[in-house]
Amino acid sequence: MRLGFARASALALLPLLAITSVQAQTPGEVNIYSYRQPYLIEPLLKEFTQETGIKVNVIFAEKGLIERIQAEGRNSPADVLLTVDIGNLTQATAAGIGQPISSPTLEAEIPAAYRAEDGQWFGLTRRARVIYASKERVKQDSITYEELADPKWRGKICTRSGQHPYNVALIASMIAHHGEAWTEEWLKGVKANLAHKPAGNDRLQVKGVYAGECDLALGNTYYMGAMLTDEKEPEQKAWAESVNILFPNSSDRGTHINVSGAVVAKYAPHQENAVKLVEFLASDKGQEMYAEVNHEYPVKEGVSWSPLVKSWGDFKPDPISLNEVAALRKKASELVDKVGFDDGPSS
Ligand code: FE
Repeated sequence: MRLGFARASALALLPLLAITSVQAQTPGEVNIYSYRQPYLIEPLLKEFTQETGIKVNVIFAEKGLIERIQAEGRNSPADVLLTVDIGNLTQATAAGIGQPISSPTLEAEIPAAYRAEDGQWFGLTRRARVIYASKERVKQDSITYEELADPKWRGKICTRSGQHPYNVALIASMIAHHGEAWTEEWLKGVKANLAHKPAGNDRLQVKGVYAGECDLALGNTYYMGAMLTDEKEPEQKAWAESVNILFPNSSDRGTHINVSGAVVAKYAPHQENAVKLVEFLASDKGQEMYAEVNHEYPVKEGVSWSPLVKSWGDFKPDPISLNEVAALRKKASELVDKVGFDDGPSS
């Protein structure tokens, strides 16, 4: 889809007051580049247009949107980038495609731990990285990330690649809490406890528990919702029903949190509408809808959780700022390579 529009050059010739009144009369549009899938955001965008009259154009892609905005440069039609994971959000800002947004609304709605210190990204939903534990074989009802290196779990842990952004962020949080040297030893311990070489996505690790390959699987909470409700993958229900969710570190610092979020593009042609959109996504209504559709947690305190998400129980989120976690991602990724995490338990 070509997101073309005529703008500034013609308007620039008009007196300022005329521009203001033109803007007041026509809500205009906003252009989104989204890594998030259509079914997740379409209902929200419909609601946004209904409330504001602002027309929304979206490009969906699984890859390459940050690079595309970079390549389009000043001519990029992108107003807002929607993505998951603190890694993507900071990659976008590091690539220079974002702009700092100062919005008292966003600052009031989104806790400081879940937005960029310089206003270049805003977290919009939270996901907790938890342990899926075999109902049959794991009797304990609490766990810590630290404990995953305990030899008692030898051969019992399943996880996707250590280099996956979800694990990189978790390991970065371990560095933040324990330091690099400690985390390296911990990572070696977790590697030694793996059931097999890291492979596949989070859901396949839960399948590993179901199949008896391992007792514990690392995964994000919303995959529980996905496995229980995915009509196209009915066999996954049994995987989900074979495990309990354990929220790690509930009795100390709390469970590691990642976010999905938004970046307002540096050359956003509809900057004002872009901010309005992000503000809508951070509003009570937006938060409820955005979190519910993917079984995630709102970032905003006080917004109710979906009944399914609530059924997994309350938990304590690690209060560490994602700014701090993001800054340690590179070190975390280096450690994963250094210990040969993805080679699996035997090498
Ligand atoms: Fe995911």
